[in-house]
Amino acid sequence: MGSLFLICHFFFKAPHYLLWLGMGYIVPACALAAQSLMSNQHMTMSSPILGIMYLFGAWASAYAMALRKNAQAHSKFAWVLIVMIAALLAYYAFVDEQLWIRMLILNLGVATIQALVLISMFSHFKHNDRLNKIVDLSYLFIVFYTFVRSLIIFLFLKNIDASMLSTSVWWLMMLAASILLSMWFAIVLLGTMVRDIVFKLSEERSRDSLTYLLNRRGFYDAAKVNLAQRPAKKYFLLMCDIDHFKKINDSYGHLVGDQILQQVGQIISQNVRENDLVGRFGGEEFIILLQIEQASVAYQIAERIRMAIETELFSKKRISVTASFGLAHVKNKNLTNTIDIADKLLYRAKRAGRNCVFLEMHESTNNKALSNDEKISLKPSKIVQKT
Ligand code: GH3
Ligand code: MG
Ligand code: MG
Repeated sequence: MGSLFLICHFFFKAPHYLLWLGMGYIVPACALAAQSLMSNQHMTMSSPILGIMYLFGAWASAYAMALRKNAQAHSKFAWVLIVMIAALLAYYAFVDEQLWIRMLILNLGVATIQALVLISMFSHFKHNDRLNKIVDLSYLFIVFYTFVRSLIIFLFLKNIDASMLSTSVWWLMMLAASILLSMWFAIVLLGTMVRDIVFKLSEERSRDSLTYLLNRRGFYDAAKVNLAQRPAKKYFLLMCDIDHFKKINDSYGHLVGDQILQQVGQIISQNVRENDLVGRFGGEEFIILLQIEQASVAYQIAERIRMAIETELFSKKRISVTASFGLAHVKNKNLTNTIDIADKLLYRAKRAGRNCVFLEMHESTNNKALSNDEKISLKPSKIVQKT
């Protein structure tokens, strides 16, 4: 299981905490394997080293949980504890040979180190989703079980002889329970990891890597969901294309061009509301779905974006940029048709001299047509086109 975590970390770019969790599984497993092959005398001799391996495993798991939850593992304290416990193990191995006390100290040490992360880990418990809650509660249960193990050693394995240990029912039950809990924990954790990776991949699939806005596919998908979920609402589609962008690229280079695209994306996002959708439709073209009741308000938003772009000085070179816009009302939830109309309006805005908004004026029977008041509220300096 530990190897599986390491493979996920190194080959599938899974999160960093899996590296430490993998170590948390592998190092104690190596200690257990070595211990199984040793004679009782060798086991006593090597008990401080074996103890350090178990304690390191506990710290690595706690550290992994801390990384995963942005929590505090109290590593310094844990390492002081590890050194102290190793010293005690050495005492009860070489000076006063007591197997059960070594087992007790080691289990208490492991449980304490694992428990150090719990407080800060559970401070945001309420905000977790169900799968993450299961992972957290499973970890809590493992810590609790390690304390119970110490109690079992104290109550039922007191003064046990090393030769009797492998036949003790308590000891075998404790081992079996540890293995089952470790397996359970690995399964739920891998479950959350797979879910997170799938979510991340689907996010990446629908986002543009330069501006981190929705890409064409992401925009279509999200827009379709919006239109289907709130059919009673009115929507407007705004197409935006940066003017003479080729010249900007040619004069200042593609890197500056990329910066401008990012900044334009930010300006657009800052000037719309949270439930409006902003996407990068292609090269220097952006698409916005506005959920707005009145055409005049949609127009004002388009104007606000146009002016914000016009007044901004882009990149360190303080470059002035303008953009042209086509604004169309989404009729009958038909996105493709609306994009086509907005695109044509955008083309007209370009031909009319750029840096302006072209708005569709429609006579629709299904939707409320623009009233005279609405028409008047549009800036007279801007072109209002009848389609
Ligand atoms: P117009 O005002 O008519 O829109 O002129 P324009 O130069 O903006 O339009 P045109 O379609 O001729 O050129 C678009 C340019 O956008 C060409 C291309 O090099 C540039 N472009 C497209 N995608 C990117 C990109 O991701 N980064 C950069 N830097 N430039 C891009
Ligand atoms: Mg352009
Ligand atoms: Mg273009």
